[in-house]
Amino acid sequence: MWLRHLIFAFSVFASVIRAQDTAYVRQCLKFLCSPICYGRGYVNKGLQRAEAFIVSEIRKTKAQALFEAGFTQAFHHPVNTFPKTCEVKWNGKTLKPGLDYILDPVSSGGKGKCTLTRKDSVTLTGYTNSVQVTVKAPKKLTYSVGHTVSGGNVMLDINRSLLSPEPVTLEWKITQTLNADFVSKNIGAIIKGSEQPDSMLVFTAHYDHLGGMGNKTFFPGANDNGAGIAGLLDLMRHYTSSPPRYSVVFLFFAGEEAGLLGSKFFVENSPIDLKKIKFLINLDLIGTGDDGITVVNATEFKAAFERLKKINEAEKLVKYIKPRGKAANSDHYWFTEKGVPSFFIYTMGGISAYHDVMDVEKTLPLTDYVDVMKLLLLFTAQL
Ligand SMILES: [Zn+2]
Repeated sequence: MWLRHLIFAFSVFASVIRAQDTAYVRQCLKFLCSPICYGRGYVNKGLQRAEAFIVSEIRKTKAQALFEAGFTQAFHHPVNTFPKTCEVKWNGKTLKPGLDYILDPVSSGGKGKCTLTRKDSVTLTGYTNSVQVTVKAPKKLTYSVGHTVSGGNVMLDINRSLLSPEPVTLEWKITQTLNADFVSKNIGAIIKGSEQPDSMLVFTAHYDHLGGMGNKTFFPGANDNGAGIAGLLDLMRHYTSSPPRYSVVFLFFAGEEAGLLGSKFFVENSPIDLKKIKFLINLDLIGTGDDGITVVNATEFKAAFERLKKINEAEKLVKYIKPRGKAANSDHYWFTEKGVPSFFIYTMGGISAYHDVMDVEKTLPLTDYVDVMKLLLLFTAQL
C-alpha cells in the first residue's frame, strides 16, 4: 500500500509537471478578454460568445456533458444594461468612459444637462426635468452588475481628480435598458473516474464578468475571472491525458458578478449528488501570486488546509498560504452551505486592477499560475 502510494505520488508529480500549459492559458485569456466577448456580460452577446468558446474547448477534451440537455444549464434573472450610446460631458469636455467615469449599475439613461453643486466632499448633485442626478467621487472606479433601475435617476462615479469646488455642468446621453428576463447559462462537464466514478472532485470558476458600458467600453476581466476559466480548461486537458481515479467535474458558472446566481441555481438544481463530492475547489482571481494565495474556508476544513500547507512546504511552490474563514464572496459559498467540503483559492499581490477597465490580459502577470496548479493537483491527488 505504502509503495503503491509512493509510486502513485511520483507519477502524479511527473504528470503535474507536464500539465500546466501557460501558452494555452494565454491563448484562452486573449480570446476571453477580447472585444468579441465584450466583458462576458449582458451587451453585444458577450456572455454567449464566451459560452460558445468554453464549450468548443471542452469538446476537444474527453469530458462529457453534465446536464441532461447537454453542456449548459439555463437560468433567468433581471439585469440593467447600457447597450449603445454612453456619453458624458463635464463642463463641455467629453469624459473617457471607464477612466474618467463609471455609471452606477442601477442608473437610468436618457439625455439631459444640468448644473451640479457640491453636496459633501465627494458628492455632487443636480436636478432637471424631474431627473435627480448624483455624482460621486470614490477612491477608485469600480463597476458591478445591477438588477434594478433607480426610477429615472442618473447616477455615476467620477475620477476624483475631476472634483473642483465650483459648480459643474454635466451633460449625458445614455442608452439604458432593464432586461427583466436575461438568460444566463452555467456550463458543466465531467471526466469519469477510472476507479471510483461515483466519487467526485469538483473544480469551479465563474465565466461571466461585468459586460460593457455603451458600445465602445467593456470590462475585460482578465484576472476576474479569465484566469480561472483558462485554469479550468487547462485542468481538463490535464485530466484528459492523465485519467483520474475519481470522476472530475468542471463547472463554469454564469451570474457570479450579479450575486452568485449561477452557483445558487446549480446547487438547487444539481444533476449530481452533492454528497458524493469529496472536495470542491473554486478558482477566482488566480492571475497573480507575488504574495502567495489566500484559502477561503481554511478554518472550516482544518485538516485539508494543513495538508495543503504541508504539500506546499515540501514542494516549495507558492510563496505563502494565508488562511481565511467562511466568506460569501464567490461560487464555493452555496456548496459550503450545503455541507460540501470546499476551498476558494485566489492569488495575492501584483496588479491592483479589479472590476475596472484596467483588468486586461496584457498586464496580467500569471506570476504563480504554474505553482498554484501543481499545488492543487498534488492536493487533490491525495484525496
Ligand atoms: Zn470574480
